[in-house]
Amino acid sequence: MSASVSSYLAIAVPCPLRRLLHYLPAPDQPLPPIGARVSVPFGRQQVVGLLVRIDNTTDQDASKLRAIAAVLDTAPLLDPPLLECYLWASQYYLHPIGLALQTSLPPTLRAGKPLPDFTPLHWQVCTPPTALPPPRSARQKRVLELLERYQGLSSAELSALLEHPAQPLLKALAAKHLVHQVPRTPPPDTAPLLKNAALHFNDAQQKVFEALRASLGSFSCHLLEGITGSGKTEIYLQLIAEVLAKGQQALVLVPEISLTPQTVARFRERFHCEIVAFHSGLSDKERLAGWVKARSGAAGIVIGTRSAVFTPLRQGGLFIIDEEHDDSYKQQEGFRYSARDLAIWRARQLRVPILLGSATPSLESLNNALSGRYRLHQLQQRAGQAELPTLRPVDLRQQPPLEGFSQALLQALRRTLDKGEQALIFLNRRGFAPMLRCQHCGWFAECPRCERAYTLHQQPSALRCHHCDAQQRVLERCAQCGAEQLSGEGLGTERSAQLLQREFPDFPVIRIDSDTAHNAGRLHELVQTVQSGIPCVLVGTQMIAKGHHFPKVSLVGVLDADSGLFSADFRGQENLGQLLTQVAGRAGRSDTPGTVLIQTWYPEHPALLRLLREGYGSFARHLLQERRQGALPPFGHFVLLRAEATQRELPLAMLEAARRWLAAEHAVPGLDCFGPMPSPYGKRAGRFRAQLILQAAARPTLQQVGKALATWLDTLPAARKVRWALDVDPLDFS
Ligand code: ADP
Ligand code: ZN
Ligand code: ZN
Repeated sequence: MSASVSSYLAIAVPCPLRRLLHYLPAPDQPLPPIGARVSVPFGRQQVVGLLVRIDNTTDQDASKLRAIAAVLDTAPLLDPPLLECYLWASQYYLHPIGLALQTSLPPTLRAGKPLPDFTPLHWQVCTPPTALPPPRSARQKRVLELLERYQGLSSAELSALLEHPAQPLLKALAAKHLVHQVPRTPPPDTAPLLKNAALHFNDAQQKVFEALRASLGSFSCHLLEGITGSGKTEIYLQLIAEVLAKGQQALVLVPEISLTPQTVARFRERFHCEIVAFHSGLSDKERLAGWVKARSGAAGIVIGTRSAVFTPLRQGGLFIIDEEHDDSYKQQEGFRYSARDLAIWRARQLRVPILLGSATPSLESLNNALSGRYRLHQLQQRAGQAELPTLRPVDLRQQPPLEGFSQALLQALRRTLDKGEQALIFLNRRGFAPMLRCQHCGWFAECPRCERAYTLHQQPSALRCHHCDAQQRVLERCAQCGAEQLSGEGLGTERSAQLLQREFPDFPVIRIDSDTAHNAGRLHELVQTVQSGIPCVLVGTQMIAKGHHFPKVSLVGVLDADSGLFSADFRGQENLGQLLTQVAGRAGRSDTPGTVLIQTWYPEHPALLRLLREGYGSFARHLLQERRQGALPPFGHFVLLRAEATQRELPLAMLEAARRWLAAEHAVPGLDCFGPMPSPYGKRAGRFRAQLILQAAARPTLQQVGKALATWLDTLPAARKVRWALDVDPLDFS
């Protein structure tokens, strides 16, 4: 195609504009392909944009249009379906397309660097065979045999099959022109892909597997509701083997926290094929390499956290979302997308099945499964020998806790350790004590930027704000009355670990929270200590609730179940049920049966009773009824407009203007507006915060209104004095 005057290149530019910008083609140059990056002038800068469309009319002033400076890709960087996915997400989540693209492209590509070639090579037998006689060496013959059988192998795969290094043999054969290296296409045979043999399914697993295998090749959405340890991951692995055998790729999303080396290791142990893993610990170069391998099809499996949903695939065959209820799938900043919901959209677009798995499904997914939009599969037994732990409340009214621990829990801990087993204590609050209070006048130390209590930390000693990054040294006197009677009040993980160490001096106490496990490597070390099996007590926050496998833990103690019962957030009970069930699931995962003790002042609370007696499934179905009555998600939908500023009155004033504009211009039936009101965390890091909630029964209503509102806010002078953001399908109302 040659450039003509009537071609307007519609380009996504990395800036907060909610539209594409028109540019003219570079004179005397061929038009770039759709999906290619281009370098364009923007203001006084040169920026990297992406060509989304070519139009033949423009609504911009044609005389002022500028020409693109350079074409950076001769072939599309993003294929049309992925580009369409970005466009849809940017529309739905009300985020400018240029910024949406910015969020998830590897940094080097964003910066306009060329796309490197990571096409992997593999070894093949030369055809036609050379006239030379076949090798006499038995080892070399074996190499030729294997290469023929599998129609090509990488040197690593060959080494694994031979169980000794293949490189010297390949070199020798290459010198004789018997083998050569060629670019790899997805392998035609599944056999070399399997390293460790698959487990033999139990009947329940077999049924789920068959149903999913039958649905490969077209779109369908499946919810696998399976208790912890019921063998969900084993099903994922065997489905992936099917997909790889077809020469297709699998995309697996996992929550932020569980992308420990453990998770990826389990995949690597099973498959020989190239697996790319995306997580926050990658260097730019590793991220780019992974992206390119997924795009070229060299990687058979892509496993990653939230943003991996945007990974290009040459030939997607299956999507899996593990722990689909996990909050980390929703981005809470900037481009506020839900990776789970986008993955479903993408699976539909690519006509492949998607499997959502969880022991504690979100109410959204559960409702979709119960209403028949998704297919529901259940696994109610643990795979292998392990038994499900029993959950028992500990009534704190009967035995008030001493420094957080009831006698019943302490005794159970002692019995567990004496038997040579391990115990896990769960407390979702890190630090030493959540408050430093004056025992004389009641004053407590608070962060001036957030107007919330500082958390007292001992090692290292500091007052730290858990809402912003502020910290200061620990005071010795009360700032109000001067008394030297300040003391830490309440219990954090640091303090409970100290208490336990004093109580059980002969056993190690291992604390796992974001202070002790500040990076994946450190977390892995701590986890490995526990997995070594020595009798010990593990104390931790929700960091230990998810994903880990601790075979020797036979007792789980929950210090405080009550905060979730009375949470102001409508998702409070759902989250509590998920967290308690996930923590409980850490107990008795192998041959040691488990007990879970839950300390509470409200053992008769109906929600807690239902959870303990009937399990999460029944608990969640009951919560769904309540949501239906309240028209709350998934029966109603929200868009949240947040605003914050250093001056107290500005956010509310701006939101009030928005509310009035909505009432005047968009009084659509079915749309409700709540607020404006100060946010539950009314101040954070020195900014006052407020919100306006839009609610509707139908998503299209919110979409339409949200879009109009965003466009209007972009031009509103009052909106320039605050930081504002729209959050579609918000999870966080704080
Ligand atoms: P989930 O993902 O539901 O937590 P996993 O797939 O991790 O469950 O399985 C839990 C444990 O049971 C693992 O140690 C796994 O190896 C084992 N397991 C899974 N399926 C089987 C099976 N069919 N037979 C024996 N053991 C199994
Ligand atoms: Zn005081
Ligand atoms: Zn603060």
